[in-house]
Amino acid sequence: MRTVYVNGEYLPEDQAKVSIFDRGFLMADGVYEVTSVLDGKLIDFDGHTARLHRSLSELDMANPVTDAELLEIHRSLVAKNAIEEGLVYLQVTRGSSGDRDFVFPDPKTTPSSIVLFTQSKPGLAFGPAAAKGIRVVSIPDQRWGRRDIKTVQLLYPSMGKMMAKAAGVDDAWMIEDGMVTEGTSNNAYIVKGNTIITRHLGHEILSGITRTAVLRFAREAQMQVEERSFSIAEAQGADEAFITSATTFVMPVVEIDGKPVATGAPGSVATRLREIYIEESRKVAI
Ligand code: PMP
Repeated sequence: MRTVYVNGEYLPEDQAKVSIFDRGFLMADGVYEVTSVLDGKLIDFDGHTARLHRSLSELDMANPVTDAELLEIHRSLVAKNAIEEGLVYLQVTRGSSGDRDFVFPDPKTTPSSIVLFTQSKPGLAFGPAAAKGIRVVSIPDQRWGRRDIKTVQLLYPSMGKMMAKAAGVDDAWMIEDGMVTEGTSNNAYIVKGNTIITRHLGHEILSGITRTAVLRFAREAQMQVEERSFSIAEAQGADEAFITSATTFVMPVVEIDGKPVATGAPGSVATRLREIYIEESRKVAI
C-alpha cells in the first residue's frame, strides 16, 4: 500500500481523506503538477515548482507550503514508496469552507488543501512505446480559455483520450480555428528539415516544463526552432511529429488521422531529442 501525503501528514492511502466540501471536488478549483522520477530522483523539480507558483497566483490561491517543504515532501514520498521510475502527483485546491459557495472563501479562515502521491512506472525511460511511436487523431479543442493554468479540470482531456481509444489510437491532438493547440496531456511538435515547429505560448496551451527543456536542447544542438501554430495537413506532410510531457519525455508520433507521418516510423530528430532529454535531465535530477 502506498504512503501518501495530505495536509501535513504521511498516511497509508486508504486513510487519507479530504472533505466532501473541498472546492477541488465540487468545482475543480485546484491546480496540479506531475514530476517524473528517474533513478529515484526528481526531474526538473524547479521548473514544476515555478509553474505551480504561477498557476496559484493566476487563481489567487494561497500556497500551503514553502518550496523547501515541497521538495522535502516529494523526496520523502519517493523514499517511503521506493520509487525508482515513476512520478509524483501534487494537487493544491482552495480547500473547504464547510459548505458550497461560488464565492472564494477567505484564505485566512479556509486554508488551501494539499495532496501528493506517487505512481511507480518501471520502464518509464526505456519502455517499448518510444521505439514504436504513437498514433493520434484530431478532435476539436473544447476546453476553457485559460489552458496556460494547470488546473484539475481534466474532463475534456479525459473525453479526448476516450475519443482516441474509440478510434483505436493512442491519443488526440486538439484543434482550434483550424490549428493544432496541443495534445490532451502533452505539447505537440512537427519537424521539417532541421526545423522544429511548435505552437507559440499563450492562454491557449500549457507551457510544458518538458517543452522548455527540449527547445533549449534543440537550440543547443544547432536545430532551428519556430514557435508558431500549424495545421493537421501541415503535420501530415511533415518529416516528423512528436509530443512532449513530463511522463512521456519526447515521444514520436507516427500517424495523424490515419495518415502516416513520412515513413510511419519514429523520426531521427525525435529519437535523438528523447535521448538528449533523458540523458541531460538525469544528470541534474535532484
Ligand atoms: N499540455 C497539457 C494540456 C498537459 O496536460 C501537459 C502535461 N501536464 C503538457 C502540455 C506538458 O507539460 P509538462 O511537459 O510540464 O508535463
